[in-house]
Amino acid sequence: MDSAFNKRFLERLLQLSKQVNDKIGRKIMFMEVCGTHTTVISKSGLRGILANHMELRSGPGCPVCVTDQADIDTIMALSRLPDTIIATFGDMIRVPGTRSSLEQERARGARVETFYSPREAVTYAAGHPDKEVIFLGVGFETTIPAITLSLLEARAAGIKNYSIFSVHKVVPPAMKALLNDPEQKIDGFILPGHVCTITGRKAFDFISSDYRLPAVIGGFEEVDVMEAIYLLLRQILDGRVETMNGYRRLVHEDGNIKAQEIMGKCFDPVDVSWRGFGSIPGSGLRLKAEYATHDARVRFPIEVPPSSPPEGCSCGEVLRGKLRPDDCPLFSSVCTPVDPVGPCMVSTEGACAAYYQYGIGY
Ligand code: SF4
Repeated sequence: MDSAFNKRFLERLLQLSKQVNDKIGRKIMFMEVCGTHTTVISKSGLRGILANHMELRSGPGCPVCVTDQADIDTIMALSRLPDTIIATFGDMIRVPGTRSSLEQERARGARVETFYSPREAVTYAAGHPDKEVIFLGVGFETTIPAITLSLLEARAAGIKNYSIFSVHKVVPPAMKALLNDPEQKIDGFILPGHVCTITGRKAFDFISSDYRLPAVIGGFEEVDVMEAIYLLLRQILDGRVETMNGYRRLVHEDGNIKAQEIMGKCFDPVDVSWRGFGSIPGSGLRLKAEYATHDARVRFPIEVPPSSPPEGCSCGEVLRGKLRPDDCPLFSSVCTPVDPVGPCMVSTEGACAAYYQYGIGY
């Protein structure tokens, strides 16, 4: 919090939040629904600075963290198939499944390669025609278009040994699941800017129109997050309830239509399980039948023994905003980034990792 502008802005936020707390008779609670926001809020110290006036609670904003344990276990099983290479973004490597992690599987001889983009994985598959390259499609609307394009590129180039294991998830249905929880105590939402560049602002209108809660799409600079909080506070003080766009330089009303079309061309919505939530209707994407030759679920059908989340881990409650990371009894004692028990301590977008790295601040 180093610029004079930010400090003045912060002062204003503190004044406004006091007015809001006086109006509603208690401390306000907002939720950020994006792992990158969680990191920005923790790293800037905002969480701690605002703590006497409001709570900023983390939600299901990390795609690695919300991946269901059974899906993680299936990925481990895929990594053990002969002549198979698992291609993944780096965060997945250390996520603990019920019986092992990709890191452990790799130590036992599995081929696991990390890539910064799915396109690199397609090139890699072209260079290894005797192996099956399975890309782990873990991500929200932000990353799904790039993965979809990699599939189309492989198909156009006649690369037959590249397939996708889709655990893709879309955010609006998860927001509905959160909002349908009668115990939910959130007063407003900071919505994920990157996701909204694809979905558009209107995709989240239901939060204000159907659930009568304010929501603001936030960018990723410290000042963007403060603006989102300001716009939430202002709505409450003014007695308005809207889904507002605080990231106008990148987010439009209808989003990125081309990206939506590409996703719609290749994927169908399906009900999938989220860690901590269970099955959420229409919240996942499966490849359409015409892309079966690049669908790892079709090409490598695999059964896994029953899965169970890590013992004592509260990731499910953290992801639903029921607990703060430091409410988990394992936080920073048994569970640390060096020896993580659950995915929220592994992923760079995980709430537990952010709280551990930058401090709790309360
Ligand atoms: S501290 Fe560790 S065990 Fe507890 S919720 Fe976070 S990741 Fe899970």
